[in-house]
Amino acid sequence: MRAIRRFTVRTVLPTELAALGELVHNLRWSWHPETMDLFAEVDADLWEQVGHDPVALLGAVTPTRLAELAADRRFLRRLADAADDLREYMISPRWHQTLSDGARAIAYFSPEFGIATALPQYSGGLGILAGDHLKTASDLGVPILAVGLLYRHGYFTQSLSPEGWQLEHYPSLDAGGLPLSLLKDTDGEPVKIRIGLPEGRVLHAQVWVAQVGRVPLLLLDSDVADNDNAARDITDRLYGGGTDHRLMQELLLGVGGVRAIRAYCRITDHAEPEVFHTNEGHAGFLGLERIRELTEARLSFDEALEAVRAGTVFTTHTPVPAGIDRFPVDMIERHFGGANAWPTVPVERILALGAERDPGRFNMAIMGMRLAQRVNGVSVLHGEVSREMFKDLWPGFDVADVPIGSITNGVHAPTWVGRELMELAGRELPSLLERARGWEGIQKISDADIWQIRGALRRRLVDGARVRLRRSWRERGASDAELGWIDDALDPEVLTIGFARRVPSYKRLTLMLRDPERLTELLLDPAKPVQIVIAGKAHPADEGGKKLIQQIVKFADQQSVRHRIVFLPDYDMALGQLMVQGCDVWLNNPLRPLEASGTSGMKSALNGGLNLSVRDGWWDEWYDGTNGWAIPTADGVTDPDRRDDLEAAALYDLIEHEVSDRFYDRPFDGLPRRWMEMVKHTLTSLGPKVLAGRMLRDYVVDLYGPAAASARSLSADSYAPAKAFAAWRVRVTQAWPGVRVEHVEASGVGDTPEVGASIELRATVVLGDLEAGDVLVEAAYGKVGPHDELTRPAYAKLVVQSVEDDGRAHFTGKVPLDHTGAFGYTVRVVPYHPLAATTAELGLIAVPEEPAGMTNGTLR
Ligand SMILES: *Cc1c(COP(=O)(O)O)cnc(C)c1O
Repeated sequence: MRAIRRFTVRTVLPTELAALGELVHNLRWSWHPETMDLFAEVDADLWEQVGHDPVALLGAVTPTRLAELAADRRFLRRLADAADDLREYMISPRWHQTLSDGARAIAYFSPEFGIATALPQYSGGLGILAGDHLKTASDLGVPILAVGLLYRHGYFTQSLSPEGWQLEHYPSLDAGGLPLSLLKDTDGEPVKIRIGLPEGRVLHAQVWVAQVGRVPLLLLDSDVADNDNAARDITDRLYGGGTDHRLMQELLLGVGGVRAIRAYCRITDHAEPEVFHTNEGHAGFLGLERIRELTEARLSFDEALEAVRAGTVFTTHTPVPAGIDRFPVDMIERHFGGANAWPTVPVERILALGAERDPGRFNMAIMGMRLAQRVNGVSVLHGEVSREMFKDLWPGFDVADVPIGSITNGVHAPTWVGRELMELAGRELPSLLERARGWEGIQKISDADIWQIRGALRRRLVDGARVRLRRSWRERGASDAELGWIDDALDPEVLTIGFARRVPSYKRLTLMLRDPERLTELLLDPAKPVQIVIAGKAHPADEGGKKLIQQIVKFADQQSVRHRIVFLPDYDMALGQLMVQGCDVWLNNPLRPLEASGTSGMKSALNGGLNLSVRDGWWDEWYDGTNGWAIPTADGVTDPDRRDDLEAAALYDLIEHEVSDRFYDRPFDGLPRRWMEMVKHTLTSLGPKVLAGRMLRDYVVDLYGPAAASARSLSADSYAPAKAFAAWRVRVTQAWPGVRVEHVEASGVGDTPEVGASIELRATVVLGDLEAGDVLVEAAYGKVGPHDELTRPAYAKLVVQSVEDDGRAHFTGKVPLDHTGAFGYTVRVVPYHPLAATTAELGLIAVPEEPAGMTNGTLR
């Protein structure tokens, strides 16, 4: 018989051990080894059995053992110390507290959060990044308040069938067994979030709070008795179900999330967020909810839109158009229109925000961009790809002027770096993690010390892999008698390559199988053997991905190679930690440029692993020729088979001739000196860059701070500036068709212009109904390509000289001839307002109909 409901009965701790409850319920333990040591001391065997999940530990520990601990003076002293340390961590001023004008609070929305294995609410990179963002915000004192959903079955756990086919299981999570507490109102009743649905239905949700160090994470949960069955299932699983299910999840996350924040701030007296950051488009409805709040407080839709945009940051995470979240338009109409419409938010305005080229589709990324004044991609290359992908939203602008910037991802060192290495760094280079400088100090640490730790981490991986391999083979139906070989699977002394990631086709899990014989030779090379550890989950609906996994598993099942190549099921944070710490080389071979950033290679680098990767995402930016290897890509080759052949061959060559040569080159004292040189260079050059602390400071300085300042400016004086800005936008947008660059002339060019001289430009601009102060007139100048296009133009402001009664205005300015060779210039007019974040803010531009005055001559 199966139970119809399950819940967890919590242990009552003796009063002496009350602080243990405090430590368990703040997820800071997950990146604080001393606290984990304390948990291990409660019951070391049990701690291993429960997979380092302290809530489960307290649920399973016997009352006798608790009584023993309550009388153990030494344990109580350590407990008191740990609790003091946490309390101090929670209130002491940190980096953000040194800023004079930091945001008072920042709301951070994400559909998934990877914080600890014990809170399985993530599927892959997006969630892990969100988790690292929160932990780092906590460490730096950045006042983030995070919002997500609590999925009753989380993401699936993976196992294999005897045939190597991925099997999915959805564990039943029960909030009582997770490190969560229910958000209750001042009267002690659980807070209820309500969202109106079509046909008079109401979606109810309760709110769980996970404490991630200093950062509260609010998780909405629709599994409550007030809901009908369909509504109860909205938060059943992560990325499960169809379009309607996804829309309901996103409504709950965006609209419900803002409502949860309002409740939380009211109840706990927490500062209201000034900035709202949406991590990918899924939470985009939060902007609509905030418009509703402001329009109900008597702003017009346009005024509210400006106020909301000013304080919103949108981060896009996919370079693949198919990865963009879209809904059928009629679905949005049904949810935000008719009898279910919000009286002050017309559905037509909502539809316009998500409108894209296909009139039947509502595009969440495009809405995200229209609702956010600041938008970014997650690596320099991804920023470029995103500007190209979304350039149609800014017609007339050069791709480089599309206002999408980038902040490259980072990783949270205390979560991902092996403890031995953290301790070595702590001893030799204290507070290294807080600094961008001083990483050269790593060069002074002895090769032997680092090599010894690398060996210990590799051995731990090998041991862990054998345990997982045995478990997997048992599940696939093997008997113990057949599994003796597992004791010798993998070798703690052999060069170990890791490959772990989700399995969408662009990541090319099976590229290494392109030439199975060649791969086999590499694995079995008697002098320089290589071993490969692989992990990854395919999306449950992705049959293609499951086939790839099966191919890998079939290859690794072969008796001849199974001791050198293994597929470990159920890639999660725990397996990720084991792998990024233990592998010598981290392999990544996506189809360039489809990997937005990637972060697992960063984790490996911080552990002294070397990246062997296609130059995509973050690696395109920071590969410097000697901090790892770049797999050459066949970018121009259109035949995918041929491209894979070429890139796979390059990969085999690199492994054979570069990677393993270096690893096995042990000239005298047994240490691979040339290898260690590269490891140290990796740590020194990449360490400070890949840290999530660098990422978070970038977010604060480039996005959160400016967004908070914009939001404050617009909301001052009861939103008077927002009203003025909105009125200005309407006026300028209406008048823009009348704006024209009528005439441009230059003097000082002469017949043979010389570098160092300058030319004087005079532009006549028809302003129509606008005034000179409404626009910025600029000369764009610099090198020109074969079709007179300006490549990377510089800009010089032209100043108004006179305005005639008919709306013609004359602008002048100087253009320096700062390049030799082909040189050109033109003039552009864009709207100007001090509250705009970029010149492309309104998406309006006027340029001369014919290229104004190309000096087709060549400068000397
Ligand atoms: C780091 C990590 C990811 C993301 O890694 P990518 O390099 O972006 O593929 C996914 N899953 C887990 C469990 C991770 O630890």
